Amino acid sequence: MKKWSLIILGIAVVLVVAGANALRATRVKAAQPCSNNLRNLDGAKHQWALENKAKPGDPVTMENILPYLARTPTCNVPSGKYLVGKVGEEPKCTIHGTVSQFKPDQTDSF
Ligand SMILES: [Zn+2]
Repeated sequence: MKKWSLIILGIAVVLVVAGANALRATRVKAAQPCSNNLRNLDGAKHQWALENKAKPGDPVTMENILPYLARTPTCNVPSGKYLVGKVGEEPKCTIHGTVSQFKPDQTDSF
């Protein structure tokens, strides 16, 4: 019964690939530092502002931008909270500050 063994082999390959992907996703999530979250927050803010025709100074909430994020961002320091801020402002972490405070040598145009 060669047909059956091929099907079983196919299922086994799919399971191994799926498992490896899940493992990699977990590892990336665990290693993600706060500065990446701030960049993601900033990107999501820009996206939201663009789609909602928001002007600089318009208030943005975490609820507004959550649809643009893969997951709710949390700081690697448990007490760190994210302040989304207004359009045109950088998102801020209560522990780490803003992206530009994080890495002053790397100016982010976004
Ligand atoms: Zn932080």
